[in-house]
Amino acid sequence: MVRRRIPERTLRERILDRDEYRCVYCAEILPADSLTLDHVQPKLRGGDRSPGNLVTACRTCNAEKGSAPAWVYLSDRTEQRENFLRYARGVWPRHRRAIVEEVVKGSKRTA
Ligand SMILES: [Zn+2]
Repeated sequence: MVRRRIPERTLRERILDRDEYRCVYCAEILPADSLTLDHVQPKLRGGDRSPGNLVTACRTCNAEKGSAPAWVYLSDRTEQRENFLRYARGVWPRHRRAIVEEVVKGSKRTA
């Protein structure tokens, strides 16, 4: 029996594909070479390179987010937050929860 070898796709390709080549922060669909992988929880803060911690981000959003965790970056950016919750479907539920909870905390602070 002859088995065809399916080339393994890189992690980057899998993430871009999963997110449909859309930046989860500004919702722009861009060519692969304009997109980066963003760590929802930064590596510096214990985040890893698993698909549940990675999202597709354009260079602009990634640079703006810098090394902040997504929930901090999104806490005062309503539009980007809504995009993230809509498009970052592959992200771990605890990250999505952290983003929602950060908003609740924020609104309590200003209330
Ligand atoms: Zn973007």
